[in-house]
Amino acid sequence: MRLNKYIAHAGIASRRKADELTINGNVKINGLTMREPGYDVKPGDVVEVNGTTIRSQEKKEYVLLNKPVGYITSVQDEQGRPVVMELVADVDARLFPVGRLDYNTSGMLILTNDGDLAYRLTHPKHQVTKTYRALVAGVLSNEKLARLRRGVDIGGFVTSPAQVKVIKQAERSALVEIKIHEGKNRQVRKMFAAVGNKVQELQRTAIGDLYLGRLKEGHYRKLTKEEIDYLK
Ligand code: URA
Repeated sequence: MRLNKYIAHAGIASRRKADELTINGNVKINGLTMREPGYDVKPGDVVEVNGTTIRSQEKKEYVLLNKPVGYITSVQDEQGRPVVMELVADVDARLFPVGRLDYNTSGMLILTNDGDLAYRLTHPKHQVTKTYRALVAGVLSNEKLARLRRGVDIGGFVTSPAQVKVIKQAERSALVEIKIHEGKNRQVRKMFAAVGNKVQELQRTAIGDLYLGRLKEGHYRKLTKEEIDYLK
């Protein structure tokens, strides 16, 4: 969000007055004077006007995106790769993604500017179930399924019991639904690797009882009030 708009949203001054304050050196970003009214305020920036830290009274927004493969779950990427924020660029709020999907994972991603909700959804103590559909190479024997359900060592961490259901077993691959409530880095891929099956495609289909449904890849929609209340 532009700096002058941020200051105006905080109720400090009109946008024009905010421009004046900025040009006159009354505004600091992260402790350094900022004289550029067009500066783009980033999530985490600390904005001070005349020595007082301000917060923009931005309306809380909640967006559900069907992330395509080939996008980084981040606000910015140092290597210039596509980031999910580009897909929600027309939402007028400083959104950030809740949790992370790998570059090669598609599916349900919530973006919001509500830090409390983000904390609730990602903190393990709240045990929010995440559902994934994985296309894995090879055959998933009953013994492997039992191990996945019990918990597997993914390198210094043993996963909690998971729900695992084979939707379709073909000759050389299996389509599986797996529900977990932890969020370790690349957890689902590592779980299948631990039993010797490589994940070829991975999609998140639900967070708790909120489902991706028919939302097309690369598209987003705003959550309804009921959905927001449910997640809170
Ligand atoms: N588990 C993974 O391995 N990757 C994801 O993107 C999400 C869960």
